[in-house]
Amino acid sequence: MRVVIVGAGVSGLFIAYELAREGIDRIVVLERSYVGAGSTGRCATGIRASFTSEEHVVLMRESIRLWEEHSRGELGDYGLTFVRGGYLWVARREETLDYFRKLVSLHNRLGVPTRVIGADEAKELVPQLRTDIIAGAMHDPTAGKSYVFTTLRALMKACSERGVEIRTRSAVTKLAAEGGVVKAAVLESGERIKGDVFVIAAGSGSRELLKTLGIELPTKNMPRHIMVTEAFARAFDPLVVDWDTPGAPYTVQSTEGNFFIARELEEEPELSIYSQRIDFIPKALKPIAELLPFLRAVRVLRYWIGYYVTTPDNHPVYGPVKSYSNLFLATGFSGHGYMMGPVTGKVIASWVLRGKPCIEHAARLTLERFEKGALIKELAVVG
Ligand SMILES: Cc1cc2nc3c(=O)[nH]c(=O)nc-3n(C[C@H](O)[C@H](O)[C@H](O)COP(=O)(O)OP(=O)(O)OC[C@H]3O[C@@H](n4cnc5c(N)ncnc54)[C@H](O)[C@@H]3O)c2cc1C
Repeated sequence: MRVVIVGAGVSGLFIAYELAREGIDRIVVLERSYVGAGSTGRCATGIRASFTSEEHVVLMRESIRLWEEHSRGELGDYGLTFVRGGYLWVARREETLDYFRKLVSLHNRLGVPTRVIGADEAKELVPQLRTDIIAGAMHDPTAGKSYVFTTLRALMKACSERGVEIRTRSAVTKLAAEGGVVKAAVLESGERIKGDVFVIAAGSGSRELLKTLGIELPTKNMPRHIMVTEAFARAFDPLVVDWDTPGAPYTVQSTEGNFFIARELEEEPELSIYSQRIDFIPKALKPIAELLPFLRAVRVLRYWIGYYVTTPDNHPVYGPVKSYSNLFLATGFSGHGYMMGPVTGKVIASWVLRGKPCIEHAARLTLERFEKGALIKELAVVG
């Protein structure tokens, strides 16, 4: 069997890795730019299972288990790390704590031990946190972070060792099909890459590519802004989300010591990732520095934009497509695709090889749900 994967981000590489581990020895990954050039290389590295939908909680819980397993295994030997620093969802308002309590009961029922904690306990986790302006927090102790570039390098090495061919600078312009079967990925150069199975993990490029088969993917490419500061000695471990401030600003100290600081701004879909907004920096820094005053004094090194490839229900589009028997999708992660990388690899590999996902919740996330109107809501859309 020859598998053609389009996109060398975290999804495409974890899918290639899992298929190769299951013995598929003819896998080619086609990437229009360089490995990690899409959203993956632009993300905030956060990993958590504290979501608002059962589907996300179950899939992320498994993904966290896999991040830990990988960090202790072959990928760990090649540099992948998982640091269990937790997430701290800070509430400025008392009524937010009631909402958090509802989420905690969902998480706990599904085996994720989140807790609502008071301001003083939050300060024990993040000593620099101002307690006079917060009501408390929800703490997710199972969450963590993983540095993107060491993860990608580890995946590239493990994939290459198993004979996976990763072809960069290979933009796919169309998918060619006959009688409900995809036959080839056609490159810009005109070269046709034939295969038995095709997996589209092309992030913000997926929608245009699928149009060439007449498939409408209901995704939008939403610009998301993020900055990084210079590196410091370890200050605190959790990713801190300011839940009650519009745009849910957040910060996390990366495993390398730099702070990522981000928030949602009102944006038009499809805006170029080079349309920087100078107002982003004060809008994100002000609320975060209010919670963590020491961050006022740090220097911002760089600021960039990446896409959240969003679906109408903020869940990914996974798995097979009704009209083509050998086509599988892994896209539309709505801002959570990095953390889902390991579980995406497992779920899609099992769909390709055994005709069904290894986790039943994934079967609710196929493209068909939009036709049927079976949308699933996710409200905690934060890195
Ligand atoms: C600011 C920001 C912060 C984020 N923070 C987090 C976070 O903390 N945690 C988290 O889990 N997620 C986070 N995300 C989301 C996360 O980055 C994405 O969901 C994830 O990286 C998606 O990975 P992917 O492999 O599916 O897509 P991508 O990384 O976008 O990879 C797709 C690849 O396909 C290639 N491609 C596209 N079209 C074609 C084509 N026609 N031919 C060949 N190749 C093609 C692209 O060049 C790209 O390399 C964040 C995103 C942003 C922008």
